[in-house]
Formats: sequence, structure tokens, C-alpha cells
Amino acid sequence: MTKVAGEDLIRRLATRAVHAGHIADPLAGAVMAPIYQTSTYVQQGLGKHKGYEYARTSNPTREALERNIAALEGGRHGFAFASGLAAVDAVLKLLSQGDHVVSGENVYGGTHRQMTHIWARHGLEFSFVDAADAANVAAAVTPRTRMVYAETPTNPMMRLCDLQAVAAIARGAGALCVVDNTFATPCFQRPLELGADVVLHSTTKYLNGHSDMVGGMLVVNADDLAEQIGFIQNASGAVPGPFDCWLALRGTKTLALRMRQHDANGRRIADWLTRHPKVSQVYYPGLPSHPQHDLACRQMSGFGGMISIELGSVERARHLVERTKIFALAESLGGVESLIGHPASMTHASVPPEMRRAMGLTDSLVRLSVGIEDVDDLIADLDQALEAAG
Ligand SMILES: *Cc1c(COP(=O)(O)O)cnc(C)c1O
Repeated sequence: MTKVAGEDLIRRLATRAVHAGHIADPLAGAVMAPIYQTSTYVQQGLGKHKGYEYARTSNPTREALERNIAALEGGRHGFAFASGLAAVDAVLKLLSQGDHVVSGENVYGGTHRQMTHIWARHGLEFSFVDAADAANVAAAVTPRTRMVYAETPTNPMMRLCDLQAVAAIARGAGALCVVDNTFATPCFQRPLELGADVVLHSTTKYLNGHSDMVGGMLVVNADDLAEQIGFIQNASGAVPGPFDCWLALRGTKTLALRMRQHDANGRRIADWLTRHPKVSQVYYPGLPSHPQHDLACRQMSGFGGMISIELGSVERARHLVERTKIFALAESLGGVESLIGHPASMTHASVPPEMRRAMGLTDSLVRLSVGIEDVDDLIADLDQALEAAG
């Protein structure tokens, strides 16, 4: 008899992170999911096989990752993609020409670029609104609205969107509510429980957590929606390879542990930055000074390691990002190592300047992805770089 922990035993997040989705390996009893590095599977006879025919359609390593992340989000079906933007591409393929989408204006730059430069050309219509006020989302809904797309907290302004309110607006309009949960992760925010239909991730970030692969994920509860997404995943084919799935799966096992440290370090550093004379503004939902701190406390159970700061001058911002020694100057976020970036010229260069200005994303804004290093070393690094930044 094989012993595999059932659903009834793996209830809480840290336990799910380690165990959910695993199936006993019949060959050797491997404790970790093996990497099934194969494109196809032998068939015993015509139409007789073990449920696997071709690896674009299904791969056991990928399925282990899909089950694991679905369980973390409290969803019934997970679908892995080759990148976060491939997951965005797949979710928008649920729509048809003439359909309308209400999206937060401050979504990930690449998501905005895909919507406006690719999907608008293929006949989808978009309204971009400041989703920090749910009334703006409601006001943008038209009879053709089929999707509400939200990201919270947003990148890099750390604005929040009331997921319960926005999901209710979507439901009332007969539209799908899609939430990009990349920043908060299922450790700190549970969109499906707040009424969302689809949770989207760039697994490249916190879920993998080690900055060594690129991937995406969609999680849903409804069976009919899962069937449509499964069809798109196979028919469009933007699937991740088994090795990247295995890396992401290794990453999720320590998610609860890592997020606890990102959160503790993030809180300490955000608080320290508010008292630094060269920093004019700190954007972090865990600060009581954040305009939506109440919503953050209601909707999130932690605030993580993403912090943006306003330096007041482009030169000072440049000097800071070029002088930190532990915080590496790089795009991306969510890894164990601390990173520093300049959104206006890096991650958000594809967002039109007037739109950047309207959302407060200035050329003197710097974004930190606080890692899991010793927080006193991180503060010392920021301190010396700010000191030298003039
Ligand atoms: C990085 C990111 C994406 C895109 O994911 P890729 O894996 O880079 O394609 C989407 N949303 C958010 C919030 C991100 O940070």
C-alpha cells in the first residue's frame, strides 16, 4: 500500500506548498516529482495508453506543478504556461472579436503592451481605469464587457484594488474576473475566495523564487472554464518544458518560508525608508501612511517585499540604483536575492510617458524587490548608496 497524504491532511498553506499535487511514483517511489523529459509516450496498442499521448497536451511533471499551484490558490484546476505573458495571452483567448475588457491602468507593462499592441489589433476593446476606486471599474462596464482584469498590488505604484468589489462588478456584468496575483502570492492574498474566476501568475517571480526560470500559470475553479483553458493551452501550445516545471515546483515548496522573510524584511526596510531624509515618498501597503492601508489589512495577510520610493530627482535615482552593492540592478522581482530597478526606463519603458505620469510613475521612482538576506545588511547597503547618491 502506498502512502500519499490526502486532501484532508494537507489543508494549510505551508503543508500544501510541500505536498500538494504529488503522486506516488510507481517505479522507484521518488519523493520528489521526476522530470519526465520526453516529447511522447509509447502506446500499448491503438487507442491504448496510460493517459499520456504527446507532451504538449500533458506531461506528468507539468501536471504535478499545476496541481500544486492550484492547491495553493484554493482552486481546482491549474494550467502552466511558458511565461506569465503566455498566461495573459491564453486568458485573453477566451474572448472573441468585439468583446470589451476593463483593465486596471497600472497593470504589468508587458500585459498592457500585449493588450494594446496585439489584442486591440485582433478586435478586442480595452478600457484602462484606475482600479484603486472600484467605481471607476463599474463606470467603464459596457454591454459588451466580457472580462475585468485586475492586478493588486500594482507594479510599481503599489496601489490596491478591492477584489471583492471588483469581482462583484464583473459578476453583475456577466464578465470574467481575472486577477494577476504575482505580487501578493497565495500566501498573502486569495483572489478565488474573494470571488475572482481566474488567478494568473508569472511563476518567474515569487512562486519559483530563485530567478532561474520563466513561467506562467492560470488557476480556476469552474469546470467549463477549465475545459476552455485546457483547450487553449493545447491548441496554442505555449507550454513550459518539464525542467522549468520542476524548478518551479522545487520553488513552491519553500514559498511559505520565503514569503515570511520577504514580508519581515519588507516591513523593516519600508519603515526605515520613511525616516530617511533623501526619500520623499515610500509606497508600501504595509505602512499606515499608505492611502489604502485599511484595505490592505482586510484583503492581504502580509505585504511582501516590493517597495517603491520617490527620490525627487532623476540623478539621485540613477545614483542610487548604480551604487547599491547587494541590491543588484536588474529587471524582475520575487527572487531570494534583492534587486533594484528604475521602472521608467526598465520594466515600464513600454508604457506611454503621459500614462506613466498620470499614475505617478515618475522618472525619479525606484523599485526594490527585497530578498531574504539579513535585513541589517540590506539596510546598510541602501544607507551607503543613499549617502553617496547626493
Ligand atoms: C513579470 C510579470 C508578468 C509577466 O510574466 P513573465 O513571466 O515575465 O512573462 C505579469 N504580471 C506581473 C505582475 C509580473 O510581475
